[in-house]
Amino acid sequence: MTLSVSTMALALTTIMGKVNRAARLAQAGAVLQAVGWSLLLASGAMFPGGAADFALSVLSMACLSSSFACNAAAFELWCGRTAPARAPAIAAFLMTAGYAAGFSHYAFRVGWANGWLAVQMALTIATLACRPSVPVGRWRWLLVAGLTAQMIVTVWRGVLGAFFTEQFPAFLTPHPVNLAFAMVTNVTAVLSMVSILLAHRDEAARALERLATTDSLTGALNRRAWLLQADVELANSIRYQRPIGVLMIDLDHFKHINDTRGHEAGDHALQFFAQALRATCRTGDSVCRYGGEEFCVLLMSAEADAARAFDQPLRAYLLDASLLELGHRLDYSAGVALRGLGEARIADILRRADQALYRAKALGRGCTVDAIDMPTQSAVIA
Ligand code: GH3
Ligand code: MG
Ligand code: MG
Repeated sequence: MTLSVSTMALALTTIMGKVNRAARLAQAGAVLQAVGWSLLLASGAMFPGGAADFALSVLSMACLSSSFACNAAAFELWCGRTAPARAPAIAAFLMTAGYAAGFSHYAFRVGWANGWLAVQMALTIATLACRPSVPVGRWRWLLVAGLTAQMIVTVWRGVLGAFFTEQFPAFLTPHPVNLAFAMVTNVTAVLSMVSILLAHRDEAARALERLATTDSLTGALNRRAWLLQADVELANSIRYQRPIGVLMIDLDHFKHINDTRGHEAGDHALQFFAQALRATCRTGDSVCRYGGEEFCVLLMSAEADAARAFDQPLRAYLLDASLLELGHRLDYSAGVALRGLGEARIADILRRADQALYRAKALGRGCTVDAIDMPTQSAVIA
């Protein structure tokens, strides 16, 4: 078992390449486990109860309990929680400190160490079993099963060592519990390895999905992802006969900002505007960076007046906040179009919103034009 966990630790640290915090914690967990078991084996070769036995055994317990704390933290991050709980690390500290203090009392130290290891396994199981906040594969239930078996055998060992010490007088006693322990720990080590790799892959898949659907500068949806979503929402709006609309926005004189203040200031203005847009949206509305300095908002269940009035609070906010935040005014022109009768393609609504936007530019910018009043007549809303 020591050989296989050492091989896994070596493989994980050498082949995983550039990794993030969760994977680094999992690697540290694997290395600590390998070192922990190696030290425990080495302690068996020392004079029982001597200084070398004490030092190696305590260090081994520190490594094994820290290994569980690292794994619990790694899986917590992989389950989408941003701040790992402190309980596994506190349990690791208590386990080592108590083990060192009561080392001379065999029954106590076996009961104590196994008891706390079982608590750490329970904490890891709880981490995996709690509803994750990101999509997590079925591997977590495989690991929960392995850890549950390992926890049961560990409790069994602790109880034997603490209360039936004559049946379990030494670490390598040929008792069925030790056989079960060796087998279950081997199986769980393999499952942990598989889980770590799958969790890492899940995370990479999520990162790719994020990259493929969002604009990296503003964090808004990109055009492709927004159009896919808009198609689905449009179909729903037709089926349930709910209104839906599109607001197309183009920042005014944006090139001038770049030319006079530099591209960095331009980027900052785009980020600021996207943030303001998100804050103005109601639940369900979705914002995208359509391209360059153009943004689109899908207005869900927007009655005609509500849709047309959408950008009034945004303009009011920009008027004050842009000067404070950016040091210059930021304004925009927009076109709004609601789904017309018989209109079943988002491209048609977008085209009308775009025409309204061009009309707003032609009218002198800094206003929103409703497509309903075009092309014969244009209504300036703001
Ligand atoms: P108008 O009022 O007619 O819309 O004028 P405008 O200057 O906003 O429009 P124009 O199309 O002439 O220029 C858009 C500018 O937006 C040009 C381009 O360099 C800039 N731009 C596009 N994407 C980015 C970006 O990601 N960062 C920065 N800083 N600038 C960008
Ligand atoms: Mg433009
Ligand atoms: Mg522009």
